[in-house]
Amino acid sequence: MRFKNLTVLLFVISVLLFITAFYANNIKLEKTASKTNTIQEPDSLSKNSGGQKVYGVVKTEKEWRESLSDEEYYILREKGTERAGTGKYYRNHEEGMYFCAACGNELFGSDEKYDSGSGWPSFYAPKSEKDINVIKDVSFGMERTEIVCSRCGSHLGHVFNDGPKPTGLRYCVNSASLVFKKKTNKSKTTNNKE
Ligand code: FE
Repeated sequence: MRFKNLTVLLFVISVLLFITAFYANNIKLEKTASKTNTIQEPDSLSKNSGGQKVYGVVKTEKEWRESLSDEEYYILREKGTERAGTGKYYRNHEEGMYFCAACGNELFGSDEKYDSGSGWPSFYAPKSEKDINVIKDVSFGMERTEIVCSRCGSHLGHVFNDGPKPTGLRYCVNSASLVFKKKTNKSKTTNNKE
């Protein structure tokens, strides 16, 4: 009889130990899960809604370095600025279109280009506002508005409020961010017909 009681007691203790171990393991799993969620959530949020736009043209830094010259990479991808008055398009007065040097997006036309005297190619408007994204820039102790290509996110320059009519804006753009294509005689004829 006594032996039987001892067996029952051992059985009950075993069951209790099993139940305790089961719940303890569950609690541990829950803690791991909540910890994992806490880490993952901010990461996914910073990619989607942390101010970083997902662009249509996406390349790795290695691919950008391979597709651009050193100067273009510095200006377009590292937000650099060419020295005033040195850019190849600063004094370009030919008729044609200016495209993004990184992705080929059509950005500015010669019709909107004007001589601002700033040392950089200046336009009072882009060809289409949808091709340009504006970003608040507080670097170098100044508050400026950076302009980037809306298709690839590459740095173009800045936009200021001291431009001529009709917009009053000055899109100040690095020559290295642009590729100019001259208007052909055929399109000249087409555009100038009366
Ligand atoms: Fe671009």
